[in-house]
Amino acid sequence: MVSAPVIQLRPATSPARMAPNGKRFFIWTIGCQMNEADSAKVAAMLQEVGYRRTEDENDADIVVLNSCVVRQASEDKVAGKLNALARIKRERPGMPLVLTGCMVTNQQDALRQRFPHVDLFFDPSDFGQLRRVVPELDDLDDDLADLPHYYAPESLGLAGQAGVTAYIPIIYGCNFLCSYCIVPYRRGQETSRPLADIVREVEGLVASGVREVTLLGQTVNAYGRDLPGEGQLPALLRAVDAIPGLERLRFLTSHPKYMSDEIIDTMGELDSTCEHMNLPVQAGDNEILRRMRRTYTRDLWLDRIERSRRVMPGCTVATDIIVGFPGETDAQFQQTYDLLADARCDKVHLAMYSPRPGTLSARWEDDIPQEEKSRRHRAIEALQEEVCTGLNAVRLGTAVEVLVEGRAKGRWTGRTRGNTLVHFDDDRELLGKLVDVHVTRTSPWFLMGEPAGLPR
Ligand code: SF4
Repeated sequence: MVSAPVIQLRPATSPARMAPNGKRFFIWTIGCQMNEADSAKVAAMLQEVGYRRTEDENDADIVVLNSCVVRQASEDKVAGKLNALARIKRERPGMPLVLTGCMVTNQQDALRQRFPHVDLFFDPSDFGQLRRVVPELDDLDDDLADLPHYYAPESLGLAGQAGVTAYIPIIYGCNFLCSYCIVPYRRGQETSRPLADIVREVEGLVASGVREVTLLGQTVNAYGRDLPGEGQLPALLRAVDAIPGLERLRFLTSHPKYMSDEIIDTMGELDSTCEHMNLPVQAGDNEILRRMRRTYTRDLWLDRIERSRRVMPGCTVATDIIVGFPGETDAQFQQTYDLLADARCDKVHLAMYSPRPGTLSARWEDDIPQEEKSRRHRAIEALQEEVCTGLNAVRLGTAVEVLVEGRAKGRWTGRTRGNTLVHFDDDRELLGKLVDVHVTRTSPWFLMGEPAGLPR
C-alpha cells in the first residue's frame, strides 16, 4: 500500500487556492499508477478548497480510500481497511467516508449493502461526485475535471520531495478482454483525453519545475483511437516533446498489438522520449497467450522489442509475467522462461495467477497447485537476478545521466533515462538536477556512483 503524496505545485493553469479552513483529509491508495494519479487529483481538489493533508485517519475530517481489484489480495485489503474504519465512523458519524477506484464501478448497490457505513461511492471517472460530501467544492469556478493531476514517484518513498516527475493519465479504460483481467469490467471502454488538455497540463507542470512526465493508461498506446481527427500517440508524443523545458517523457502501460513501427520510430526521433520500453508479454507460450486472449504471439512481442533496440540503441525493457495460468504445463512455463532468458529484460513485474470473479478464466479450474506457482515464480526471480546482474555489470565504469528525484537513506537517488535506479553521495542541493554519475558499483537492482561534471 502506498499513499498518494500531495505535491505543493501550482501550475499556471490552476485556479486560486482558497484559504485554509482547518479541515484535514486522509487518502489511502492501493493499486497502479492510474490510482496514484487519481488520488493525487482528489488531494489537489481538496487542497484547492482549503483542506490540509493528514497521515492519520483518526485525525481526518474526510477519509478517501482508492481501491484496486486486479488481485483478490488487493480487494481483501480494501475490505479490511473499510471494516477497520467502521470504528471511526461510529465515533464520528459526521465524517464522510468515501470509496473510489476500480472496486466501485458498476457495483454500487452491492457495495452499499456490504459497507453501509460508507457515505459515498464514486466512479473514478466522475470526480464531481465528491461535491456531495465536500460542499466547499461548489465554490470552485473551474470544471473539476480540468484540475491537473499531480503525482510523485512513490516507488522511491519520496513523498514530500516531489516536483521533479509527474504522472498524467491520458486514456482511461480498456477495449481488450484478456481472460484473466477485471479491468475492462470496472474501468469501461477506452476513453482518451483531448490532446490539447494534456498538453496544457504538461505545460503547467513544466512551468512549475517538473522535468519528467509519464503518460498513463491501461493501454496507453491505444491513445487517440477513439478520437477521430485528433491524432494518436505519436502526435501526442510530438506535441509534448515540443514543450520547452521538458527533459524526459515516458508512457506506460503499452499493449504489444498497438506498439506500431510509427510509435517506436517516433520514440527514437524525439529528444525527450526515454529509451525505455514497457511492454507486458504475460507468457511465452502461444497457446497460453491465446487462452489469455492477449491477441498476439511471442514472436510479435519479440519483434517489437528488437525493433525498439534497433531504433534506440541501449533501450531498456520492462515486462509483466503471470505464472501458473490455468492449464499451464511445465513445457509451456519453460517457454516463458526461455523467452525471458533470450529477451534479457531489465525489469520483470511478476505475478502468480489468481482468479478474479467475473472474468472468463475464473470459470476454468485454477489447477496449478500453489507450491508449483511459487516454484515457477522463484525460477523467474532467480533468472531475472542473473540477467540484471549481467546487464548492470557492463555499466561499471561508465557515466550515466541521472535525474535526481530525492534523498533516500542519506543519499541522492534518481533514475537514468532507461529507468535504472542510481544512488550517489553529494553535499550539494541537487533535487531536480540532471547529474552525470560515474558508476563505481553495480547490483542487480541499482547502480551506485560518484557525480562527475556540473549538474544542470
Ligand atoms: S490489456 Fe488486458 S490485461 Fe491490460 S487492462 Fe486490458 S484487459 Fe486487462
